[in-house]
Amino acid sequence: MARVLVALGGNAIQRAHDAGTWADATRQMRRTAPVLAAIVARGHELVVTHGNGPQVGDLLREAELGAREVPPPPMHVLDAESEGQIGYLIAQELSAALRTARVPRVVVPIVSRTEVARRDPAFRHPTKPVGRFYSAAEAARLRRTAGWTLREDAARGGWRRVVPSPRPRRWLEGDAVRAALDGRLGRSCVFVVTGGGGIPVVRGGGGRYEGVEAVIDKDRAAAVVAAQIGAATLAIVTDVPGAAVGYGTPRQRWLGRVDAAELRRYRRAGEFAEGSMGPKVTAGLEFLAAGGRYLVITDIPSLARGLAGRAGTRVGEPP
Ligand code: ADP
Ligand code: MG
Repeated sequence: MARVLVALGGNAIQRAHDAGTWADATRQMRRTAPVLAAIVARGHELVVTHGNGPQVGDLLREAELGAREVPPPPMHVLDAESEGQIGYLIAQELSAALRTARVPRVVVPIVSRTEVARRDPAFRHPTKPVGRFYSAAEAARLRRTAGWTLREDAARGGWRRVVPSPRPRRWLEGDAVRAALDGRLGRSCVFVVTGGGGIPVVRGGGGRYEGVEAVIDKDRAAAVVAAQIGAATLAIVTDVPGAAVGYGTPRQRWLGRVDAAELRRYRRAGEFAEGSMGPKVTAGLEFLAAGGRYLVITDIPSLARGLAGRAGTRVGEPP
């Protein structure tokens, strides 16, 4: 039996071409949940983390449209909202799937905070685009009135808000969840943690934490979570069967079983795009460097085989 952390990408929760209704999300999670339940049925201890891009994007838009009537919450609060919303969705569908698979567990979503350093250089160089596109005039106004940083995306014809993406350092609730798992709860609960990378907080005076306007990459956060709970396996689930070299070119080749040095070499050669496959590979390498035993990057249809060492881009031996 191994402790497995599964990091679900946006697609496992909400497909890009769907309208983004609750019914759509439920339908998609209903496809994902049995695959997760099967991991538990094989005797593994499962912990789940997930992205929140589309959901937090919708919440931002909602806050913007409703601003005349309801004060728009800061981004870290929207992060918390998205953790609640997606945690609820996973709890509903995964507990049903676990019951069907005859391995009932209590699915426990945790509103998670992730500590980042106040002096992280990312705060001086915001890079992560969030929310919708604006015209040049709107961008100028928002820069003035809201103090946002906006950057032009010439290819897609508009301006977008960019926020810092600092490095996750510590998941504040992690030690408690670790203790729960090491006790008996690993056999009766599935924890859902650090959704969207967790709510970014910085440590202030007197040991207080403050939420900050930033987003945390959920894959980087997954590496932190895996280390804190001592997961043997990290499975990064996305919408492609693995990482490829020459991605999207005629020389494209999916990577199967590789070693960490090879993955590092390809990363250095720029094979994995920033903001998509790049952070997954970086997170995977961090996980392995911190003592993780088995890394697999794959999609939902290949996940079961990926965990058995027979699909996906993988490093190490499945425990
Ligand atoms: P998620 O939202 O599932 O966490 P992303 O959409 O950020 O994941 O990243 C997955 C995407 O990365 C794929 O859909 C693919 O288009 C892109 N990608 C970029 N470079 C590569 C690569 N070298 N190999 C595979 N996929 C890549
Ligand atoms: Mg995506």
